Amino acid sequence: MPNSVSNLAENICQALEGAIGPASDHSCLFRPQFPATAWTYIKDCLDSGWVSSVGQYVDDFETKLAEYTGAPNAIAVVNGTAALQVCFHLAGVSHDDEVLMPALTFVATANAARHQNAHPHFIDIDQNHLGMCPEALEHRLAKIAVRKNGITLNRETDRRLAAVCPMHCLGFPCDLDALASICEEYDLPMVEDAAESLGSTYKGVHTGRHGLLSAISFNGNKVLTTGGGGAILTDNSDLAQRAKHLTRAAKLSHDWESLHDEVAWNYRMPNINAAMGVAQLEVLDELLENKSKLHDKYNQHFASIEELRLVQSPAWGRSNHWLNCIILEDDDIRLRDQILTVLNDAGYQSAPLWLPMHRLPMYTHCSRGDLPNTESIHRRSISIPSASTLAGHSAQDLLG
Ligand SMILES: *Cc1c(COP(=O)(O)O)cnc(C)c1O
Repeated sequence: MPNSVSNLAENICQALEGAIGPASDHSCLFRPQFPATAWTYIKDCLDSGWVSSVGQYVDDFETKLAEYTGAPNAIAVVNGTAALQVCFHLAGVSHDDEVLMPALTFVATANAARHQNAHPHFIDIDQNHLGMCPEALEHRLAKIAVRKNGITLNRETDRRLAAVCPMHCLGFPCDLDALASICEEYDLPMVEDAAESLGSTYKGVHTGRHGLLSAISFNGNKVLTTGGGGAILTDNSDLAQRAKHLTRAAKLSHDWESLHDEVAWNYRMPNINAAMGVAQLEVLDELLENKSKLHDKYNQHFASIEELRLVQSPAWGRSNHWLNCIILEDDDIRLRDQILTVLNDAGYQSAPLWLPMHRLPMYTHCSRGDLPNTESIHRRSISIPSASTLAGHSAQDLLG
């Protein structure tokens, strides 16, 4: 390893140690924190027998989630991927359509479109906030979009462009107003993949409140976890009702008869998972405060390293700081990998951001714009330990 590389790797290790102390089993990318009430609520499910698809915690969780985000409607489902699929369905995405989405995202964004038998169409990201770049979207649409009989088509594939799906990468809100005005210009609905960004805001309003529909994830690595889970947010009460109906086997209410009026999914969140969610929602502000403190500590300790920058909240919003990520100045994937080796060997769990979607075997043939930022960020990004327990407050301090 050249001297300059090992010096940089050592500086990064020192910054990590300065911010979060010596490596321990907490120096991992994610680690959930549960308040004592989680035990009480889950025990209540076990004691009462209401562990599955019926129970008070699901309703409570939906109500509290709506209150927290300000969304008029929240529908709890089994995971974020299912949430996003239902959002696409309700936005009208169907067979052989295309959904425009960032090329740098977790694979679920693309999978959810494919589950609707639609095709992802990849757009470049912004170098700073890592979300979909409005100029890249505009540029791509100017090149390929054509209006025919009231629908927007991709002239290269002759497929209908059905929706735009921005994703708030690592919790950093992307430029929703700019994206929304492009969507309006091309008459495309916007569905937000807000899987990572519960608690993040754009111009003071929670992410997930700006699209026609949006999806949140409560997977084990997210800021709030229900073990596995997700939610759909929407301001539109008709769509909310449809979402609820379709994720609950299209069951009609009746005192004893089992009536269903269309083909639907069993995507409802089980009560026992919702119980965990209610407990975490009650302390979400404290959990996010920990995340924010951790981000401040990293800012302090990484500021003097010129060969990299820590990803920051954009001017228009506030991140929930789900995951802290450094971007190396030097665009050389070998440097990234050498540093990743040193950090992981030292016990600081670190990983690059996702392999861009168009490099995954099932998505290589999808339509896409030019992706220079996506490619470059992938070669230069290193996510660093972001467990909320690392901010110096134990679960007991904060939640006890
Ligand atoms: C986590 C995540 C999802 C999917 O959530 P699951 O609950 O794991 O299905 C979707 N999109 C993004 C960007 C995510 O990070």
